[in-house]
Amino acid sequence: MADQATGTLERDASRRVALVTGGSRGIGRACARSLAREGFDIAIIYAGNREAAADCVQELSKLGATAKAYQCDVANSAQVNDTVKAIIADFGPVWALVNDAGINRDGLLARMKDEDFDAVIDVNLKGAFNMIRALSRNFVRLRGGRIISISSVVGLSGNAGQANYAASKAGLIGLTKAVAKELGHRGVTVNTVAPGFIKTDMTDKLPEKTVKAYQAQIPMNRLGSVDEVGDVVAFLVSDAASYITGEVIRVDGGLSM
Ligand code: NAP
Repeated sequence: MADQATGTLERDASRRVALVTGGSRGIGRACARSLAREGFDIAIIYAGNREAAADCVQELSKLGATAKAYQCDVANSAQVNDTVKAIIADFGPVWALVNDAGINRDGLLARMKDEDFDAVIDVNLKGAFNMIRALSRNFVRLRGGRIISISSVVGLSGNAGQANYAASKAGLIGLTKAVAKELGHRGVTVNTVAPGFIKTDMTDKLPEKTVKAYQAQIPMNRLGSVDEVGDVVAFLVSDAASYITGEVIRVDGGLSM
């Protein structure tokens, strides 16, 4: 593909580049894996778990991708700007941005602390904004590209005990639609994926009884896998999805119908 200039990393310049925040673990890692299988080279951003990031880079390399991990707090706009500069210097232009990095600090409304509300909004929503803004010139220059943000069905339907998280995930949908309108004429598509209850390290720690109770509410009567989310993200990044923008694609086994 002729839209990629070479950066300083030794790699095949005909391969497109994807940047996945939160790409070292869970759903983000599955997105990185699916994109590597589709022939992308991958930059991942992680917060602090170096071991998981190194392990992920090794896994992506085995899939034939040139991959590199960057430690960066997506909530910190100065760090994001510096990291995006470093990634473009290393890889060349970025074709796809996947905003996956996310945290939760659950609690009932009356007891939710300011810092817990702010932290979740800062990472989940402002983090995605910081990334999109830092890469906006990159996309305008490419006259194409893909932006996918990982929301949640909780952003569509709300959830008791998750006022901060639900607000951040609903905010991502508004952010997506605004940016889709702003960058559509530049050939950039901007979409949101809203996973339901996905089997991750977090859900593995829940008591079996709790998981069964959640499962009973899902029409497909099972939890989703991270790869089932990653593959939908890879589809939205692909040329097959070139006329889909501003959408929210639910990957939830029918939970939020
Ligand atoms: P996870 O396993 O906890 O992984 C989170 C990833 O985000 C890690 O790579 C982590 O890096 C990174 N991260 C966290 N805070 C960051 C920050 N401030 N700056 C940069 N990177 C940061 O998460 P997950 O369960 O796969 O969830 C991934 C996304 O999907 C989240 O946005 C979540 O809200 C959403 N989601 C999950 C589910 C589910 O069932 N799991 C359902 C719906 C939506 P470190 O490892 O270095 O900390």
